[in-house]
Amino acid sequence: MKLSAVVQSLKPSATIAAAAQAKALKSQGITVYDFTLGEPDFNTPEHIQAAAIAAMKAGHTHYTPSGGIPELKKAVCSLYERDYGLKFQPNQVLISNGAKHSLHNVITSLCGAGDEVIIPAPYWVSYSALVELAGAIPVIVETSEADGFRMSAQQFDSAITSRTRLLLLNSPSNPTGATYSREQLEGLAEVARRRDVLVCSDEIYEKLLYTNEPAHCFAVLLGGAAAERTIIVSGVSKAYAMTGWRIGWTIAPAVLTSAMDNLQSQETSNPCSISQYASLAALTGPQDCVEAMRMEFARRREYVLGRLHAMRGVTLADPGGAFYAFFNVSHYFSRPLGKGTKVSNATEFCAALLEESHVALVSGDAFGAPGYVRLSFASDLDNLRMGLDRIEKFLNVD
Ligand code: PMP
Ligand code: GLU
Repeated sequence: MKLSAVVQSLKPSATIAAAAQAKALKSQGITVYDFTLGEPDFNTPEHIQAAAIAAMKAGHTHYTPSGGIPELKKAVCSLYERDYGLKFQPNQVLISNGAKHSLHNVITSLCGAGDEVIIPAPYWVSYSALVELAGAIPVIVETSEADGFRMSAQQFDSAITSRTRLLLLNSPSNPTGATYSREQLEGLAEVARRRDVLVCSDEIYEKLLYTNEPAHCFAVLLGGAAAERTIIVSGVSKAYAMTGWRIGWTIAPAVLTSAMDNLQSQETSNPCSISQYASLAALTGPQDCVEAMRMEFARRREYVLGRLHAMRGVTLADPGGAFYAFFNVSHYFSRPLGKGTKVSNATEFCAALLEESHVALVSGDAFGAPGYVRLSFASDLDNLRMGLDRIEKFLNVD
């Protein structure tokens, strides 16, 4: 069968592929220490589950408006007013099938053939794929571990051309956990204003922070003036352990929101009605579950960082947010690992680690960061302890 050119050139999501590989081994009865997928290991809090059941019983099992139910849009507006003092209108909010879908809506609605989208590397696997799917060109800006994997205003400025349409920014970042300071963000916002570039700010990990600095919504920058050229992407997946419910949102100028709503109405109709009511309960109900999960992630982060820093040759920039440790293993390339295996890149490293030690990580190659691997610490401490023991043994650290 002849497939379309666009689909032929599309690679599967590397994070999802790595998780599937680990699952395939597990299905053979093998114990696998699986640190691939970036999703909270907690179950969705009880009161949110109860709201979903109540929604079904109340008959909310039909189509909803394509862009989401008005109550949820209002709740999203209230959230940003509470957390950031930002006043948005419901016609600026679009509810979608997860933040990944939100990103697709943004990129497809703004970019076409020949347009350039700036993406700081390391970047989340789907960014470049979604840009290419729209026929646009990802322009990758390398950042370094020494700079905490943050793109400077100068780097941003230098990457802009007359074809630049959009910056895809992600703080806290997947895969590095890097968080930008307010000052650094102000610098980027200033460049975006001066060079007339739109910013899509993916803030899906905004509630998972481990530094003393509070979360910064990109739209608050430049005294609030940044909002005009900002598209916020976020959702319930990470903060409320709701990855399977598939609810994300964008907040954007109303004209773009309306265009994205049209696109969504043709592509998917509305996001799941029941998930929307569950998300409404998440946003309007008690928030202590968010902090309880964050504290547990913080405990695991401490443990993981302690272990990794103790492994000679391993280097990393400590993550300020999200639930990933992104560490450099290139010191171990061409040295005997495990039972004597030699590898020459991060992809081979992950394959050998999985095969010999049954520990699953994601290769940095997929994130535009050769030499690195990503460990998701959204896994319980016992698992992390045993997995890290195995990694240490595999490295033959002396
Ligand atoms: N953005 C980033 C940076 C992510 O890591 C993810 C992965 N979950 C998403 C967006 C997509 O989130 P969702 O599961 O809500 O589609
Ligand atoms: N975002 C998560 C990750 O990076 C989930 C998988 C995906 O959607 O790529 O692992």
